[in-house]
Amino acid sequence: MAWKRFRKKKDMPGGLWIKCPNCDAMLFNKELARNLHVCTDCQHHFPISARQRVAMTVDEGSFHEESPDLWAIDRLNFVDKESYAAKLEKSMKKSGSSEAAIYGCCTIEGQPLVLCVLDFSFIGGSMGCVVGEKVTRAVELATEKNLPVVVISASGGARMHEGALSLMQMAKTSVAIARHAEKGGLYISVLTNPTTGGVMASFAALGDVVVAEPAALIGFAGPRVIQETLRQQLPEGFQRSEFLLDHGFLDKIIPRGEMRRSLANFLRYFWRYKETEVLAADGWQAPNFPGDDEEETKAEAEKGEEETKAEAKS
Ligand SMILES: [Zn+2]
Repeated sequence: MAWKRFRKKKDMPGGLWIKCPNCDAMLFNKELARNLHVCTDCQHHFPISARQRVAMTVDEGSFHEESPDLWAIDRLNFVDKESYAAKLEKSMKKSGSSEAAIYGCCTIEGQPLVLCVLDFSFIGGSMGCVVGEKVTRAVELATEKNLPVVVISASGGARMHEGALSLMQMAKTSVAIARHAEKGGLYISVLTNPTTGGVMASFAALGDVVVAEPAALIGFAGPRVIQETLRQQLPEGFQRSEFLLDHGFLDKIIPRGEMRRSLANFLRYFWRYKETEVLAADGWQAPNFPGDDEEETKAEAEKGEEETKAEAKS
């Protein structure tokens, strides 16, 4: 293997290789990027930024970001190891975004939608006022434009630096989704590693379709906290995508390489369904396909004839 040429770690040119945390394989960075940041040996899904996620999901050049200049205010003058204000500034510089969420209109395989993506590298993808506002705006934009909305989550939960204000975002985002649903809109929630806390307890769990990447940590409190509280050994794979699928919490697990195609398929099903709905409202009836129960159709036709006769007599 090529990497064996480097005897010591310091012999390796910096930034060219990365070690897979799951299987210890040495991976060539460029190769890893070509494989959508998924380990070629064990399929471990590496964390990616919101902008990388957008780039690999939507049609090239179709994403038009909305509200890129919303940023958080340090209302509580919160300080832990460093001040919240300093933390915000550092994260902004690192990520090139003003907050832990970006949203906008785009297309996937030519189909329009509103997409919102959370960025875990920005203070753990936590939901403060701005993230809550952006998710809400994304959903409301979709409702207004009659478009489906997809939210791709990666978050440690509500942002404690903003206290109760961050918890209020749970209600705000949920209400926007309920209104979207009332108008017959589609909402697809995509859960990636990790999706926990207040995000999982609000909008991330409310999708008409809820899908996840493989082996993603999904839950409210983390497994360590639960284990310490219950003083019980948790089952293997607890709170991972596969466990949640087995227990009916997820609709599907979709590897990163298939996500774009799968989302496009969901959107196509949705538009087909909408088409039938519109046509039906116009008096259109679905045709009988081969394999439909013929006797039932016959009986219905006879019943219809009788009714017409009865009407004619009266
Ligand atoms: Zn690996």
